[in-house]
Amino acid sequence: MGAVNLLDFDLDGLAAFCDGLGEKRFRAQQLFRWIHQKGEADVSRMTDLARSLRDKLPELASVAAPPLLSEQASADGTVKWLFDVGQGNAIETVFIPEAERGTLCISSQAGCAVGCRFCSTGHQGFSRNLRTAEIVGQLWFAEHRLRQRLQLADGERAISNVVMMGMGEPLQNYAALLPALRMMLDDHAYGLSRRRVTVSTSGVVPMIDRLREDCPVALALSLHAPNDALRDELVPLNRKYPLRELLQACDRYLEAAPRDFITLEYCMLQQVNDTPELARQLVRLVRGLEGDAPALRCKLNLIPFNPFPGSGLQRSSADRVAAFAEQLREAGIVTTVRKTRGDDIAAACGQLAGEVQDRTQVHKRMRPIRLHASPLQGGLQ
Ligand code: SAH
Ligand code: SF4
Repeated sequence: MGAVNLLDFDLDGLAAFCDGLGEKRFRAQQLFRWIHQKGEADVSRMTDLARSLRDKLPELASVAAPPLLSEQASADGTVKWLFDVGQGNAIETVFIPEAERGTLCISSQAGCAVGCRFCSTGHQGFSRNLRTAEIVGQLWFAEHRLRQRLQLADGERAISNVVMMGMGEPLQNYAALLPALRMMLDDHAYGLSRRRVTVSTSGVVPMIDRLREDCPVALALSLHAPNDALRDELVPLNRKYPLRELLQACDRYLEAAPRDFITLEYCMLQQVNDTPELARQLVRLVRGLEGDAPALRCKLNLIPFNPFPGSGLQRSSADRVAAFAEQLREAGIVTTVRKTRGDDIAAACGQLAGEVQDRTQVHKRMRPIRLHASPLQGGLQ
């Protein structure tokens, strides 16, 4: 099997690779479609591909998603896959079916270096960035697996939306992320529209600007607090990129996407960030009344905290979430409360722990969170 993984290449990358073999761009396009649209990994089965290319490719290249460790299906139809990314690390991918769409939640890193207080991935520390093939491989695998399992008709798609909300901070793995995003949008691959692909970030300001220039997909900002003092505690990256700079970067982002809005995510932690006073501050912040931060075109998404062992935090009660949401709505801010999906298989936001060998804080955590590799479960609901 060849050493090059073709899942690493967006169309331009694949064209350059084929060019190196003396093949035209048109051939790269054919190959690209076989891989991403048909889910074909075996070059010998790509029947309309030129014989010359079919003969050469197998010894040079392969198409390989990370090896699957387990697949779990939740009672509500959510599916979680655990993939082996080597050296004792595992990452997770989650499919969330809804009436009108199917959303895939993808990981970008093994672990995460940001270390948010309320996040299970953050508690595990950081191991390494995923390669493009490992990022897009999650989509490639899930889309074709689901088509098969759900017995979809030719041309029917299982996944209509992608959110970069799995393990890791996508904007701290930008070089690998960008080609993966391009493949998601490419009509010869997954053909998702810009608004159906969401990058969620804890706020890496310079990379928000890069993304705006390179590939302005939908942006979600993990806010979690309306002032710097509290945000410094919950999202340590805030000490480097404080709120004012962050909101200014979001404002610049919207200039590249004039009809869009930013989704602000707010993880509801009982007695920590869910008080009426903080709701008041939040309203002032997004309206541009606090300091000299700009008013922001945004929607708020409140996520009830999903507990994990050792977090020391509690989920806000339903009453407090409702009161907080009401205060925002009264101020005219579109606010939704996220329904928790798949928590019976630990697939909800912030519960994705995979298994990560921390390479940065080994002294802090010797105990990786173990996920029982469950037997494959049958039919999706
Ligand atoms: N690193 C990126 C994307 C991955 S986290 C980011 O932070 O945005 C995806 C979302 O899940 C973020 O909004 C994050 O704040 C939220 N989240 C993390 N841990 C959570 C938990 N325990 N309960 C609920 N939401 C959580
Ligand atoms: Fe990393 Fe996002 Fe978790 Fe924070 S919430 S530790 S940025 S994955």
